[in-house]
Amino acid sequence: MNMVLLGPPGAGKGTQAARLVENFGIPQISTGEMLRAAVRESTPMGLRAKAFMDSGALVTDEVVVGIVRERLQLEDCSNGFILDGFPRTLPQADSLTGVLVGLGRKLDVVVSLQVDTDSLVERLTGRRTCRDCSLGFHIRFDPPAVANVCNSCGGELVQREDDKEDTIRNRMEVYHMQTAPLEDYYRKNGLLKTVDGMASIDSVQGQILDILQAI
Ligand code: AMP
Repeated sequence: MNMVLLGPPGAGKGTQAARLVENFGIPQISTGEMLRAAVRESTPMGLRAKAFMDSGALVTDEVVVGIVRERLQLEDCSNGFILDGFPRTLPQADSLTGVLVGLGRKLDVVVSLQVDTDSLVERLTGRRTCRDCSLGFHIRFDPPAVANVCNSCGGELVQREDDKEDTIRNRMEVYHMQTAPLEDYYRKNGLLKTVDGMASIDSVQGQILDILQAI
């Protein structure tokens, strides 16, 4: 199962991808998460990417395509993968097709989470992530058992730098200008399926599983 999860920031891509990992045992490939790890480790790529990320802008296509190309070649992707947050521009989508052709593979489905953009600010400002294991929570919709403490590893929960309100506005604009056109791109080549991303986490998961079952 080679799939892409599409949707604006806060649509629930990461949450659903994590569930699909449990269902299918294939890896979640989150370019945002890989870039944040590079920033944490102060690698040359992380140092270059940080300013873009902190302002809500996109990191260059060349950098993200490079990390996805490398990642897709790893053994754990041989039975499939879930791309979360990539592609985000039309050139990235074209590059992805090329990378997959080079590997003798292709995408099976692109699932787009349809959400009301007004609700996204609340979703994003309430989001918290474990500093140690990156597990995600939401202070209102998916709170940890103990405030600010990760249920899984006991690590401290922190807010992402780019989940503050000013940056969120910029990320939304970037999404509408650069990423939203991907829906048409994948609709035209017959890969796009849409789900109601405003439903509960369980219901969205159910809708995605139905789609996967049908293909
Ligand atoms: P995310 O965790 O997917 O919201 O990504 C966080 C940030 O990482 C984005 O706002 C971008 O700065 C950067 N980023 C993640 N994925 C991509 C991508 N496919 N193309 C460009 N920049 C990306």
